[in-house]
Amino acid sequence: MLVHPARVRPLAEKPRRAGPVVYWMSRDQRAEDNWALLAAADLARETGAPLHVAFALAPGYPGASLRHYDFMLRGLAETEAALRARGVPFHLLLGDPAAVAPEFLRAIAAGACVTDFDPMRVKTLWKRAVAEAFAGPLLEVDAHNVVPCVVASPRREYAAATFRPKIHKRLQEFLEPFPELPAFPDVALVATPPVDWGAARASLSVDAFPGPVPDIVPGPAAARAALDAFTAERLPGYAARRNDPNAGAVSGLSPYFHFGQLAPQRAALEVLAARAGHVADADAYLEELLVRRELSDNYCHYTPNYDRYDALPDWARKTLDAHAGDEREHRYTPAQFEAAASHEALWNAAQRELVATGRIHGYMRMYWAKKILEWSPSPRQALDTALSLNDRYALDGRDPNGVVGVLWSVGGLHDRPWATRPVYGQIRYMNERGCRRKFDANAYIARHS
Ligand SMILES: Cc1cc2nc3c(=O)[nH]c(=O)nc-3n(C[C@H](O)[C@H](O)[C@H](O)COP(=O)(O)OP(=O)(O)OC[C@H]3O[C@@H](n4cnc5c(N)ncnc54)[C@H](O)[C@@H]3O)c2cc1C
Repeated sequence: MLVHPARVRPLAEKPRRAGPVVYWMSRDQRAEDNWALLAAADLARETGAPLHVAFALAPGYPGASLRHYDFMLRGLAETEAALRARGVPFHLLLGDPAAVAPEFLRAIAAGACVTDFDPMRVKTLWKRAVAEAFAGPLLEVDAHNVVPCVVASPRREYAAATFRPKIHKRLQEFLEPFPELPAFPDVALVATPPVDWGAARASLSVDAFPGPVPDIVPGPAAARAALDAFTAERLPGYAARRNDPNAGAVSGLSPYFHFGQLAPQRAALEVLAARAGHVADADAYLEELLVRRELSDNYCHYTPNYDRYDALPDWARKTLDAHAGDEREHRYTPAQFEAAASHEALWNAAQRELVATGRIHGYMRMYWAKKILEWSPSPRQALDTALSLNDRYALDGRDPNGVVGVLWSVGGLHDRPWATRPVYGQIRYMNERGCRRKFDANAYIARHS
């Protein structure tokens, strides 16, 4: 058996039938280091059934533009080639996944279907539809979290402090090396023509703006190279330099994690292997990668209305409501924020960085969202503005981390009450002076002007 059984969860308990096993790939778009694909391979080998991988390409997705689809499709083309090299056919299904995935399973007379874990609402709805329509069993495998989300905790955690011990308790059990994907006899390949990627692009109905980002290469190979460069060159010094947006000290891996082109578990294994001599750096990185990132999945999985104002902790809603009518020195509309048209050069630089590069440095990202709270007419509007700008422009947006990052900054999620001030109430405050104390703000502004 290749996969820890606790990673696997039945979504529809129907008896397995004769026929091929299909991995319906969604969040984890890679051939290597993929527990969901390995679980499907296990099932196929049990009975000697063929293994197929299918990806259902929705013509649009909330918040996504050509920037995101281009990154994803270039990665998927590489994944198709890697799968074919192991004798596994890859099918790109065009259309609404809730409809085209069951159609494909029916057409191929699939005996069982495996998919990957994703707590985002749209994905949950697709899975529910497939679980109902498919005559065989649908199994979900958490290939994104090191400790599977439902194993780490059975409930929404209050804060990192309550979640951290739960992750560390199960880490040794789940942070295991990845086995190789076995090779399959390539009979099934012959009947599966290679994907027509031009037709896939033509099937999309997404905005051409924002377009692809020129300075980041998508795909599993580039992701692995970026991880290797980070562990060799920038892990030493990460703990001290990660909050300086000018230092280039962070890993820059979040777009690869978001599109599943790199397994977070692979990053954890490589960072652990490089830990000797850099203990504080490795531990600081693993705290972000394992505790903070997996806490975001915990929050979204156990909070159905996860991106709504009503989902904020009671204390935070109370304090924000009490200060909703406070005088704002500056007030901007969502369009003014989007156009980087605030009075403050530092904030505008962060917004420009986001629009031009599809990224904002993590420290500036907190500042960026907190100022949206301070300069919006209401906290509810601030939440919507920050979420929609993050989703539209960030390569790693539309992710549990984006939801939690915005709700932490604007709404005190996973945080505690601080001293009361206007507009923020008891939400943690940040100001420009604090940024200037921490790093060379003028150099940051100059880079993004
Ligand atoms: C307002 C706001 C919005 C955010 N939106 C997103 C988003 O859309 N997508 C996204 O992936 N992250 C988001 N984050 C979290 C964090 O800023 C990014 O994960 C990080 O900056 C990505 O850069 P990196 O890969 O170089 O990080 P590194 O510093 O190299 O960290 C390593 C990894 O740890 C994880 N991580 C780091 N910081 C956090 C954090 N605060 N919370 C959860 N996981 C973290 C990420 O997976 C990251 O790739 C947001 C944070 C804030 C405050």
